[in-house]
Amino acid sequence: MTEILTPDICVIGGGPGGLSAAAAAAAFGVSTVLVEHGKMGGDCLNTGCVPSKALLAAARRAELMRNADKFGVTIQSVGVNFAKVRDHVQGVVAAVAPADSVERFTGLGVRVIQASARFQDRKTIIAGDIEIRARRFVLATGSAPSIPAIRGIDEGPYLTTDSIFELKGRPEHLVIIGGGSAGLELAQAFRRLGSSVTVLEAAQPLAQDDPECAAIVIDRLEREGVVIHRDVNVIAVTHAGATVTTTIETAGTEQTITGSHLLVAAGRKPAIDELNLAAARIRHDHSGIVVNRKLKTSNRRVYAIGDCAAGQLKLTHAANYQAGLVIRNALFRLPVRVSNDAVPWVTFTEPELAHTGLTEAQARARRMKIRIARWPYHDNDRAQTERETHGHIKVITTRKGTIVGASIVGVQAGELIGMWALAISQRLNIRALTGVVLPYPTLGELGKRVAIDFFAPGLTSPWVRRIIAWMRIFG
Ligand SMILES: Cc1cc2nc3c(=O)[nH]c(=O)nc-3n(C[C@H](O)[C@H](O)[C@H](O)COP(=O)(O)OP(=O)(O)OC[C@H]3O[C@@H](n4cnc5c(N)ncnc54)[C@H](O)[C@@H]3O)c2cc1C
Repeated sequence: MTEILTPDICVIGGGPGGLSAAAAAAAFGVSTVLVEHGKMGGDCLNTGCVPSKALLAAARRAELMRNADKFGVTIQSVGVNFAKVRDHVQGVVAAVAPADSVERFTGLGVRVIQASARFQDRKTIIAGDIEIRARRFVLATGSAPSIPAIRGIDEGPYLTTDSIFELKGRPEHLVIIGGGSAGLELAQAFRRLGSSVTVLEAAQPLAQDDPECAAIVIDRLEREGVVIHRDVNVIAVTHAGATVTTTIETAGTEQTITGSHLLVAAGRKPAIDELNLAAARIRHDHSGIVVNRKLKTSNRRVYAIGDCAAGQLKLTHAANYQAGLVIRNALFRLPVRVSNDAVPWVTFTEPELAHTGLTEAQARARRMKIRIARWPYHDNDRAQTERETHGHIKVITTRKGTIVGASIVGVQAGELIGMWALAISQRLNIRALTGVVLPYPTLGELGKRVAIDFFAPGLTSPWVRRIIAWMRIFG
């Protein structure tokens, strides 16, 4: 070994979880080492959130132009230059990259080592020719696309989210295995950019979401021309020249679908194989590194956060949140307990689908006595001015009105869900939203209107009816 380091904190993985942990530790002035073997920024910056949202933004522009005539704006024809779309996507990644760079983290006081990390024993990690014996380790090695065992799939090329943003030309017909968030976001993006798109989903698309909200997204995608096959079993893949054929089976009937490109977006597996976890006696299984409510592993020196931790939400903001918890616990021994009760998740299709807290199904499974309030985008004036009237907000409360969950499907749902995450984390009663004064006309008013509607039955009481009658008589 050329060097032996003994930092307070050693973080493995320079994705959102690892970067947040390293930045927080360095901000408290403790010696911090970060080991990253690939690109800084992890999946989120390089192959996940950022490029996918940039691609969706390009696709949205194309769709807005196609529909501009309903605003009285005429556009002769909409052209998509796929090479330039790719440049735009790469340009956005490059614009965000400095915030996650080696230079920035070195400037924050973090020692960044660009190598692959693996445990040598319970207390030591080897990264290249450096030995690291840290007081605490934080594992944030993320995840990788999971490839289902389908006959023939490996006998030719297929895309994953690791490679799709590098495509130089637009796929003629993109066949996507997987109808979760990532699969459907990419389905809509490529369809709007001019590809034919077929989605093959083993169960129901967006199965983790409220079905009535998910149905609105799925309906929109289908109306835009995305073909979605549900409850299908993909039994074989055949590569032939420039085509790829999938054989699917639904209710005992076989069918083939031939496309130009195959994208596998069928879930992710934890990226833990290189870590040599056995040497550190860290328990793990196929779903990731086993952690307790403090995000500690079976080795008391080691925490795991983000996509590599079993049972945690696989989202950038969840990894960031967990990083904050482990740094508080590791540095200050503060009692922490991971809670996903109010962590939102968003599918960035159009309409967007956002959720936080319990879904109706989860609340009913817990035998909670709940009330449900809904308010449609159609009755929101800003939605009307934008001609974005599809969708609704659905709020789940206890009988007494404590907010326990919210789903929003519609334009900017991802921006609107934050208020509900706050409401749930603060255990607010929906009554709190009835009195807030919001700017008009904004989509934010949807939240106030659903709250007022929650109390609407009270407006039919005889007492209230009498007041309304008086008001009518006396003006
Ligand atoms: C297409 C797509 C779209 C997505 N969109 C969103 C979205 O809109 N919003 C959202 O919240 N989430 C989104 N996600 C999920 C999000 O990207 C992940 O949840 C997030 O990146 C997880 O962060 P992480 O730090 O746990 O891991 P990662 O971002 O995967 O980072 C892990 C890092 O560890 C490094 N590493 C691994 N092993 C080692 C080792 N042995 N030694 C050294 N380094 C190692 C890797 O190179 C990598 O850089 C999306 C994911 C995909 C695929």
